Amino acid sequence: MAGVALDPARDCPLCPRLVAFREEHRRLSPDWFNAPVPSFGDKAPSLLIVGLAPGLRGANRTGRPFTGDYAGDLLYETMIDFGFARGVYEARPDDSLELVDALITNAVRCVPPENKPTGPEIKTCRPFLIATLDAMPSVRAVLALGRIAHDTFLTALSLPRAKSPFVHGAGHDIQLSGRPVKLFDSYHCSRYNTNTGRLTREMFRSVFTSIRAHVDETSSLRA
Ligand code: SF4
Repeated sequence: MAGVALDPARDCPLCPRLVAFREEHRRLSPDWFNAPVPSFGDKAPSLLIVGLAPGLRGANRTGRPFTGDYAGDLLYETMIDFGFARGVYEARPDDSLELVDALITNAVRCVPPENKPTGPEIKTCRPFLIATLDAMPSVRAVLALGRIAHDTFLTALSLPRAKSPFVHGAGHDIQLSGRPVKLFDSYHCSRYNTNTGRLTREMFRSVFTSIRAHVDETSSLRA
């Protein structure tokens, strides 16, 4: 999308409720990041991971997606095991973790109260997601972490949700700017989902097994 930066400015003013929440936390915790969280990873990735929004004490505190809360522990451990990251994840943005052929972004870049962005906020932040997608024709697989990220991703592309409903472990064939891409679904790797057994480590790894196979297969076809 012409004219839209891939990452919003630190003081992006577009969502008044989120700006007020951000300002409140700048006052309460001045040493936290407290700004729109930029995407993290390879700028020409095969795999794009889409989360919903930064966690208050995770990415909003540290400034890197999925860094500093439980979701990052499971996500980055799994990414390292499947060759989509290397280094050591130490839950801080200056650790040695690097993503390999993968990029992580959030559909909404600012932390929302109670982890719940509103429909208008999702819509307002959507141009940054679309600009990110448009800038990365290398993407062949997208992992949506959670139903809302899945729905938001489809809506951002103006694709019907009914044709590709969220199902944990599913892979949907979609078109991204005229290119075939597979959209994989997983329950969000939150502590709540793992504590309740909705998502086990094995279930999450199984999704990554499918993603790895898809990326490797499409790489060999393009070689
Ligand atoms: S959520 Fe997105 S559009 Fe809204 S204020 Fe934050 S960066 Fe701007």
